[in-house]
Amino acid sequence: MIHLEQVQRADTVQTTPVVCMHCDDPACALVCPADAIKKTPDGVVQTSLKPRCIGCTNCVFACPFGVPKYAVEVDQMMKCDMCYDRTSVGLKPMCATVCPSGALFFGTPEELAAERSGTPINEFQFGSRTIRTKVNLMMPHGSHSLRVSTGAQIRKNDLLTMVRPMERASQEQK
Ligand code: SF4
Ligand code: SF4
Repeated sequence: MIHLEQVQRADTVQTTPVVCMHCDDPACALVCPADAIKKTPDGVVQTSLKPRCIGCTNCVFACPFGVPKYAVEVDQMMKCDMCYDRTSVGLKPMCATVCPSGALFFGTPEELAAERSGTPINEFQFGSRTIRTKVNLMMPHGSHSLRVSTGAQIRKNDLLTMVRPMERASQEQK
């Protein structure tokens, strides 16, 4: 299960899908008192196991990417599990299959880099904490990690300032 977040509700109607980043060392699983979140040998962090989850919401608060959601109707945490029923048998996750703009891509980082401009990165800095993930984001060429400022509010102009140089660099490469 994935959900949509508003990017900056005051400035734009733009939304963004929130997929699990599948952390190497998942905080959600570390704080779960019921051992309800399992990681597969291939690095996919599963959603909570129904027989175990007690709906405490520890994982909701622990995840640095805001991924897990508490579903009141089933008293259980639910999140993206990379459509494990599909990806474990060689199919793409449903989000990447139906996305009309190709914003979501399923493949290796090398395949992603060949498709897009920029560099795929999977290292994130939250203060002094470094988190590595199975999922990659595209960043400008030469980037190695993304420092996340948890206190800063992003405005529409900030987004445009970040995006326009990337668009210019992309056009210059063509
Ligand atoms: S992104 Fe959040 S929910 Fe996903 S594995 Fe990391 S800590 Fe867990
Ligand atoms: S809500 Fe469920 S999965 Fe999340 S920490 Fe609590 S018991 Fe574990």
